[in-house]
Amino acid sequence: MTFKDLGLSQALVKAVEEKGYTKPSPIQEKAIPHILEGKDILASAQTGTGKTAGFTLPVLQRLAETKHPKYRPLRALVLTPTRELAAQVHDNVREYSKYVDIKSAVVFGGVNAKPQIATLRSGVDILVATPGRLLDLHDQKAVSFKRIDVLILDEADRMLDMGFVRDINKIISFMPTKRQNLMFSATFSKDIKKLAEGILRNPVSVETAPQNSTAKKVTHKVYKVDKKKKTEFTIKLIKDNNWKQILIFTRTKHGANKLTEKLIKSGISAAAIHGNKSQGARTKALKNFKDNSIKVLVATDIAARGLDIPLLPHVVNYELPNVPEDYVHRIGRTGRAGAAGEAISLVCSEEVEYQNEIEKLLKEKLKSTIVEGFEPTDTAPPKRAATQSKGSFGKKKRSSKGGSSNGNTPKRKPHFKGNKPSTSGRGRSSGAPKKRHD
Ligand code: ADP
Ligand code: MG
Repeated sequence: MTFKDLGLSQALVKAVEEKGYTKPSPIQEKAIPHILEGKDILASAQTGTGKTAGFTLPVLQRLAETKHPKYRPLRALVLTPTRELAAQVHDNVREYSKYVDIKSAVVFGGVNAKPQIATLRSGVDILVATPGRLLDLHDQKAVSFKRIDVLILDEADRMLDMGFVRDINKIISFMPTKRQNLMFSATFSKDIKKLAEGILRNPVSVETAPQNSTAKKVTHKVYKVDKKKKTEFTIKLIKDNNWKQILIFTRTKHGANKLTEKLIKSGISAAAIHGNKSQGARTKALKNFKDNSIKVLVATDIAARGLDIPLLPHVVNYELPNVPEDYVHRIGRTGRAGAAGEAISLVCSEEVEYQNEIEKLLKEKLKSTIVEGFEPTDTAPPKRAATQSKGSFGKKKRSSKGGSSNGNTPKRKPHFKGNKPSTSGRGRSSGAPKKRHD
């Protein structure tokens, strides 16, 4: 099967060939023909399997085929949960559209809106955006959704976690009812399926791997280590193994800053990326990390979704996420496009239950190791007692500081209540969102 066999035009085939793609990935093979036919789809495939091209290529083709000779209303909108992901998806859109007469742009918060407004005024066919900034621009009449033919939600589950549902519904309320809707995600929770019901129409479900599975070539390793020894252990790991590019996840912004400082003090170049950093600092940190001018990027979960760092060999969970799906996304940053990767987690006694939940989700036991000199002595009980257990540790709730690590929201709070997407109601507009995230 080739890209041409899927029905893509020569102009698009040429662009992907220049990217070095020789054949479509499984999700591309399955999704592209449906999208070309104009169908709504709900697509799930493991991280790093080429979902971006899976929706971008057929959408570009449809846009090119139906282009108005004289003017360029905005006809396709891609919504993403984070600014970094928006920028990355737009980079892809630009590359894939190199040989078609389609203009694209990206808008997100944290940066000056003026150039964005100017770009939008100059005429754009396909826009990649984060929801908050997009609504601001819409309020300022810098953009119209009246001619939208296709709406794409990338990393849709993350949008739920980040409380974007109201914003998304509001954006949708300004669109024509007759349009194509595409929803892409790596994980599919019940909540996301509910959201899908409110947006998609007779969607085709496209799936290529068991839901919530991680890339096959990623090996998982757990080191049992005391909480207070984690920093020292991390430094040892990096130095002993002479690692060159490591993405480290912490649960909190503060934790990310602290670890970054300690790494730098010990002579390891590092930068932190999280929601309290300016957009300039975030972009710079990511760029320096990608071009290897720093060794370590310390991130909260904001960086976990969708970022594509080619050949990123090591992901370290300095702390385990308290939402098991986040583990899948975090480690999805390694082992991309079939490359091998290693996912390492430092687990202290308080995190044992998180590990159990992750193992349950992955249906796989993570191999645990104890390193000489770092034998765990902690006895602090798990932060969350197993739901099924006898509850001997009491019902200690996960600490509130642990929950919100990306500077955007309280996590895991799908905002359905009072704003449940209805199957028929396309024109809903549920008032101003409580909080803008972008
Ligand atoms: P996902 O959104 O599924 O996590 P991406 O769209 O970010 O994955 O793609 C992951 C990586 O795979 C990117 O570096 C992309 O350029 C590459 N890629 C996408 N499609 C192909 C293909 N058909 N062949 C080879 N590499 C591909
Ligand atoms: Mg993606």
